[in-house]
This record gives sequence, C-alpha cells and structure tokens, in this order.
Amino acid sequence: MARVFGLKRFRFYENGVVGLNLPISEQVVGTRATRTTHPQVVSGFAELFSLVTEESFAVENPFLWLTKAGVVDLIGDAGCSHLIQHSVSCMHTHEQTVDQPHCGRCSQCVSRRFGTLASRYPLSDPDNLYRVELLTGERLKEKDFTLVESFIRFATDIGSMNVSQVVERYGEVGRVLRHIPGLSADEVAERIGELHRRHSREVTRVLDEAIGVYATEIRERRLPLTCAIMLAVSGSHPEGTQPESSDNQTPSRSNGDSRRTKKPSGAATSEPSSRGRRADVEGNVKIADVLKSFGNDWRKHLAEVCEALEHKATFIRTRKWKQLGCGDWSDVLAADQEGLVKALQHRLDWVAKHPGAGV
Ligand SMILES: [Zn+2]
Repeated sequence: MARVFGLKRFRFYENGVVGLNLPISEQVVGTRATRTTHPQVVSGFAELFSLVTEESFAVENPFLWLTKAGVVDLIGDAGCSHLIQHSVSCMHTHEQTVDQPHCGRCSQCVSRRFGTLASRYPLSDPDNLYRVELLTGERLKEKDFTLVESFIRFATDIGSMNVSQVVERYGEVGRVLRHIPGLSADEVAERIGELHRRHSREVTRVLDEAIGVYATEIRERRLPLTCAIMLAVSGSHPEGTQPESSDNQTPSRSNGDSRRTKKPSGAATSEPSSRGRRADVEGNVKIADVLKSFGNDWRKHLAEVCEALEHKATFIRTRKWKQLGCGDWSDVLAADQEGLVKALQHRLDWVAKHPGAGV
C-alpha cells in the first residue's frame, strides 16, 4: 500500500513494554505471546519489503521506548485526552457493549488501565467503561487473576533489576539487541532496562496509591481477594489453601467457570459489615460533599477545596503521604497534587457508586 503511494517507510505505534513483550510468567505466556510488534519482526518486515520493492524500505515503531502511560501522556499533552475514552484495545471483542467496551480482564485491558491510571490523564479513561474494574473488581476465573498477579509481580521485580540482571533473567532480550537500527547492542540493553524500570515505577505507584486510598477496606477485608489491590498486597492463594471467607469473596475453584462475571463486585456490592464501616462511609461522604460544593470544576480550586476539607473531613493518612511528611490536606496539596486529585476522585467515585451511603 505504501508503495502505491510512492512511500518508502511504514510506521505503526505500539508502546515498548507490549512491543517487546517479555514473558511476565510461564503460566500466562500463552495468552500474551503475541510478537507482532516485536523489533525482530519489524526488522524482518523491513528486510522483506526492501527485497520486494528492490530498494531500501523502513518499518518503524516510534513508540518503542515509551510505556503505555507515556503514550497516554503524549496524547493528552497534544490536547487529545478526550479521544482516549473512545479508543478500545480489548481482546475480548465478543464481550463488548456500547456502555462497557472494555472487559477489564484481558492482558490488553489490564495493561491499558494501569497505563491510563499512571498517566497524567487518568480521568480520560472512566472506570465505568470497564466490565471488571482493575483495582477493586473481582476476577472469578483463575487465568484472569493469575494474569493480574503476574503482571504486578513482573512490574515489581523488574524495577529493582539492573541491565545485566534483566538480560540474564529474560533471554528474549537477546533477540532484540541486533534489531534496532542506529543503536549498539549495549545501548539497546540499557534502553530496555530503563523502559522497564519506568514501567515498574508507574505500575507500583498506581498500586501504592490505591492501597493508601483503600487502607480501611483492606484492613477490614472488604475487598475481593482477586482484585488487583488484594493481589498486590497478598497474592493469590494456591489451590486448596485459601482461607475461608465468610462473605464468599474467595473465588470458587470447583464451579468457577460456570459463574459469570456480569459486573465487578468490589467493595461496592459486598454486604456492609457492621462495625468500622460507618466511619469510612462518613469520611467518603464528607469529602464528596465538599467536592460537590465546588461543582465539576473542583480540580481548579484545589487550594479552596483543601481549606474546606481541613474543616469538614478527616485527613486520609496514606502511606505515601506519611512518607512525604504530610500532616494535613494543605501539606498534600504542596507535596502531591496529582495524588491528591486521584485520592479525592476515588472517594467521589465511591460515593457515586453508593447512592444510599451516609443517608
Ligand atoms: Zn479486555
């Protein structure tokens, strides 16, 4: 096609983590084994097209050294963040509906959701478009929660590896080293290490922030054991060793496949427990009330929002904010504005999903 238009170059766009697609675990390699945008394939295409056209033909992926969050930031910075919610990368096309185009369970959905949450434009990818919400949604099938757990473990582990450890651990890296035009093998290895450390920072930051926001729910065991937050905190339990759960949140292995994931049943749909919950509900409702009083523009008035929160709502002590030395809302405003917006939005979302809360 490019040839018809007299072009000598073909470009496609895939973030490097998915393009390189290092195996995140042996169990899920089959579901994530696509190598269609792998540099070796790309350079093979370039060679093939050059032979066919009898002149030098380039095939390029300009996003090779970007993470998913990096791509989302690029789109947002170009003034196109409103387009993000109209894009779909879900592999389970047969499950798509107009209201919920993302299954939330496949590797593309998990990677996309971590990417948008880690980006500077998390609100451009509304969580109600996902059939199973990443952070708090329950996953009933073992392959689904194994995927999320492996994704998290991969991101966590690779973040602390140096380049030689990455090359040693992932032999696949060797297949990339000679296929990036203009870069030496050492330079390619360095970039692969740096790309994955960035990926690690992004994924773990999303989880650390969520763990802070849902600290009470985690302590009170009100989140499904197979949501990303709980998988990050404790991992899944090997067959037969999972603790009995009184509120039936542990996935049933015997009839797991016969149960349908119609909608996520996170804390949102679990039965209210008697003690402890009230304080948290009150906290969420108070925060939401303050935000609502500022209307949809609350993000533009963060200083006033914090001022109002000081008077009306208990301060949320997340681990991150403690580490930053924040003692009240205005400290957070100064130290972690982005985290503040996300945390407040989480509470607002929680109240929206619990119309009866606080009544
Ligand atoms: Zn999907």
